[in-house]
Amino acid sequence: MIDLRSDTVTKPDDAMREAARTADVGDDVYGEDPTVNELEARVAEAVGKDAALYVPSGTMGNQIAARVHTERGQEVLADRESHVVAYELGGFAQHANLQVRTLETDRGVPTPEQIADEYVTEDLHRPGTGLLCLENTHNARGGLAIDPERIAAAAEAARERHVPVHLDGARVFNAAMALDVPVTEITDPVDSVSVCLSKGLGAPVGSVLAGDEAFVERARRVRKLLGGGMRQAGIIAGPGLEALENVSELESDHENAQALADGLAAVPGFDVREPETNIVLADISGTGLETAAVVERLRDRDVLASEFGPATVRFCTHRDVSRADIGRALEKITETFE
Ligand SMILES: *Cc1c(COP(=O)(O)O)cnc(C)c1O
Repeated sequence: MIDLRSDTVTKPDDAMREAARTADVGDDVYGEDPTVNELEARVAEAVGKDAALYVPSGTMGNQIAARVHTERGQEVLADRESHVVAYELGGFAQHANLQVRTLETDRGVPTPEQIADEYVTEDLHRPGTGLLCLENTHNARGGLAIDPERIAAAAEAARERHVPVHLDGARVFNAAMALDVPVTEITDPVDSVSVCLSKGLGAPVGSVLAGDEAFVERARRVRKLLGGGMRQAGIIAGPGLEALENVSELESDHENAQALADGLAAVPGFDVREPETNIVLADISGTGLETAAVVERLRDRDVLASEFGPATVRFCTHRDVSRADIGRALEKITETFE
């Protein structure tokens, strides 16, 4: 099987398994797990924030951030296709009692003008805007690497209105790699950022939510509330630390995605979007088949991809697929559809 469904399917390598085996541990709910503490410090430093909190998933990181930044009933500004809107079970409504004002945006980021237009001042009738949520890379748009200027402009427009900004940075290291900028250039303008260790970096479990000390202190309580307080979590944080060593490897995922896109472009019926990072989206309307049927035909040839919208198939490269695997996948895909 060549599994291109997601970059979450990677399995921990020997170094990660060894890191799990040898991790120094303690009770992290008491703040006594040295491996977790080290991981939090390392990620905080990497993204240029004062503090950070290890959480079981990216979803929990985003949900905690929303809860900490807002008051019940407020509005959140977010791109219509963002992960927090589309793929987190309406968690903002469920966990933080928020109303999301979804925006149709260019490259997944609202412009300062959109923010000015959609911002709501609290009064007798209106709940007030409590949060701007951004995403980089933008998953549903095919892993777009959003440039720091766009993020900064949106964040500035929010800040002028005293609206905090959270960045869903599940793949923010991919963005920094693709744009060839320090990750802090992307994260500096935002108040909080969550990063996934379990995507391209390859850790088995976990994300980290970073922000200032006061934010993280409150986030720690919300994590406990949601049942995300873990005990000897160093066992999984150890592989997470190991995963941070893999940032530079993301470049080969991006190269593999480009090679895959180039090959797919020649497959009859496939309309391929130019990848910016490790995600390749193909509109398969031209095959005359339903997305599910395309994915099934590929599965029959031992190539796994994701259904991603009515006529879109998603392919995702990661550290468990090599360039040779991409070549083999392309051969099979081509044979299937020519
Ligand atoms: C994967 C992902 C998340 C979080 O996912 P979990 O599976 O909960 O770790 C959040 N945002 C984006 C953009 C993602 O791609």
